[in-house]
Amino acid sequence: MEVQRRYESIFCVVDYHAITIPYDPADLRVRTRDLAIGLLAAGIDPDAAILFVQSSVPEHTELAWIFNTVTAVGELERQTQYKDKSSRQENVLAGILNYPILQAADILLYHADTVPVGEDQVQHLELSREIARRWNARFSPAKPYFPEPAALLTPTRRIMGLDGAAKMSKSIGNTIGVLESPTAVWEKLRPAVTDPNRVRKTDPGTPEVCNIYHLHRAFNTPAVVDDVATKCRNAGWGCIDCKRVLYDGMETTLAPIRARAEELGTEPRRIDQILGDGADKASTIARKTIAEVKETMGLKVYGSHDA
Ligand code: SF4
Repeated sequence: MEVQRRYESIFCVVDYHAITIPYDPADLRVRTRDLAIGLLAAGIDPDAAILFVQSSVPEHTELAWIFNTVTAVGELERQTQYKDKSSRQENVLAGILNYPILQAADILLYHADTVPVGEDQVQHLELSREIARRWNARFSPAKPYFPEPAALLTPTRRIMGLDGAAKMSKSIGNTIGVLESPTAVWEKLRPAVTDPNRVRKTDPGTPEVCNIYHLHRAFNTPAVVDDVATKCRNAGWGCIDCKRVLYDGMETTLAPIRARAEELGTEPRRIDQILGDGADKASTIARKTIAEVKETMGLKVYGSHDA
């Protein structure tokens, strides 16, 4: 939310990324809209920032194809996320391998120089920088055309999933959704993995190895976080007590977002309007970039369309 006040900002609901795993089209439509509503409810202001859906701006995939031609397969295979995802699948789709190329296109289409990311995305961002460098070196060596985007890490750099083993990810099913009901949130939080060495309530724990403790740091004040650490180390309470306090902290943040989302859900035309305006604004920038890139690369456009 702060980013949109400090920078000229563009937020994109990445539905083309979402289809790299098996999905149901009707469900994707709902999730795309819910994500946009969630972002608006959380405070993205369409008057301050551009918010749109990726597939509404086809230049994303056009630039991605162009970047395919300057990216080595070996580099894509070395990406940690690719290794993780491909190890869980029998038939690995090309879209999973090429995912970071589309990410590079998402960023560089708008000449973005700063990208707010979690720690796990830093490697992909490094690849985006490499793709920008490579394209510049090949086609625009005298005056770099694409910037090399830098990461803007938030204080909570990595939110692990409720299994405590992998980052929160829908494809693994270890997430808490921003718009989930209070009951659903608690039902997920209650059995969530904690310090594995804290078997009984009387066992002292190590908060640093417990994902619940790190979630406290994302949702509660420093005073509460200190209290959590002390009670964990001294076996001053049980993990369920600890999770209750986390749940209360999460509710303080999530309840107003949920209420705003419910309100926005009753205004479908307003959402259409916001996403339509966002796509138009994004398209204006994207078309200019693609036209310049094609011109530079010797890709002549025939016919009457603008690109
Ligand atoms: S008391 Fe809290 S921080 Fe400590 S292990 Fe249990 S859930 Fe984790």
